[in-house]
Amino acid sequence: MSRICDVVVAGGSIAGLTFASEAAKRGLSVIVAEEHPEVGEPEKCDGLVSLRGLRKYGYPPEGAAVQDQITSAILHSPSGKRLAVNASALDVVVLDRSAYDKQVEAAASAAGAKVTTGSRVGDVHEKVDSVSVKVGTEDVQAKFLVDATGPASSPRRGILPAAKYEVEGDWIRQHVVEVFLDAEKYPGYFAWVIPFGKHRAKVGAAGYGVSPFRALDRFLEGRSTTVLRKVSAPIYVGGPAQSFVRGRRVYVGESAGQVKPTTAGGIMTSVAGGVAAAKWVSSSILEGRPPLVERYQKEWEGDFLKEMKAMMRLRGVFEKLSNHDLEAVFSVLAAPRLVKKLSQTDFDFHASALLGSLGMPGLLRVARVVASAEVRSILLER
Ligand SMILES: Cc1cc2nc3c(=O)[nH]c(=O)nc-3n(C[C@H](O)[C@H](O)[C@H](O)COP(=O)(O)OP(=O)(O)OC[C@H]3O[C@@H](n4cnc5c(N)ncnc54)[C@H](O)[C@@H]3O)c2cc1C
Repeated sequence: MSRICDVVVAGGSIAGLTFASEAAKRGLSVIVAEEHPEVGEPEKCDGLVSLRGLRKYGYPPEGAAVQDQITSAILHSPSGKRLAVNASALDVVVLDRSAYDKQVEAAASAAGAKVTTGSRVGDVHEKVDSVSVKVGTEDVQAKFLVDATGPASSPRRGILPAAKYEVEGDWIRQHVVEVFLDAEKYPGYFAWVIPFGKHRAKVGAAGYGVSPFRALDRFLEGRSTTVLRKVSAPIYVGGPAQSFVRGRRVYVGESAGQVKPTTAGGIMTSVAGGVAAAKWVSSSILEGRPPLVERYQKEWEGDFLKEMKAMMRLRGVFEKLSNHDLEAVFSVLAAPRLVKKLSQTDFDFHASALLGSLGMPGLLRVARVVASAEVRSILLER
């Protein structure tokens, strides 16, 4: 005899758990299978996120899940120029992702979802109006499988290996995020420092064709540091998937590419994915109208597609910049009027905000210093 439920969720991280919580609140029977023995572990994410977005989708972090409040961001150019942006109005915090995921797990369980850990989703057989799923050693029949397995299923292009350490050092500034740009050391990406308390930070590095661990070790040379923990994890910058729904499979979070192509931030956009998917999977099942599930993608795209496209265009430009170009772009961005505008922007919609703040004059100045087809295409669209 196999078990029966409305939805099996593969992956008990932020997207899968948000989906489960929302779908169970709407009256669906939901089983979440997480392959690791504990939700939130092993923790790989740095947890930098805007509270605005999490509040909007109904999942603000509570208590100890917030490790730090960010008040400024410093960008470093390859030659060591600094661009400091006041971030105190942006409502950006650093989460303890493990604690946050456990908070959402508790919400899902309280709503009636069954969260099982140490339980891997294996073979999946789709039928016309249902799906048969191997959960651990058990066979489960469901109306939908929600795939929230993260980078394991995300679109292949746009995956970068990243190295991340949790470290202690007196050079770390609490409340200050730092980003180090260098097209030779971190091609197509950057090194980062995200504080989580006094003299503690999550530091990382990634880049196309480089060893991220070697790049990170070099970054830490000369900075007196104690390494507390090392993590190797892929980050995804390839943009949203073409289809979030394929037959009886619904993709949420990173498996649907719901991640910012500029920073690889995916917490808020994955929560939004879980909420939208739960709404339309529930309507589809409860109203007996399977095609309603397709509206999930439209709803998520309504909130994010324009920004994701702007981020993809910025990424296209960024990946082609040499260190010389980066220095030139720094001088354009350093205009006091622009720095002020950036401090009032929306953290989650930073690409549209940046392009809007630059305006035509700023873009023309960038086009003068960076001869790239991508910059010209941004100009032509405006
Ligand atoms: C180094 C690093 C730093 C990051 N920093 C930030 C940041 O600062 N801010 C931000 O917004 N985003 C950040 N991100 C991105 C963010 O972590 C992800 O976008 C987000 O966690 C995606 O959530 P998800 O639920 O879709 O997938 P994941 O969090 O990847 O979770 C997928 C889950 O599925 C489980 N799973 C996989 N296969 C199976 C299976 N067959 N059966 C059962 N379970 C399975 C996995 O064990 C995992 O728990 C970072 C990512 C990395 C790698």
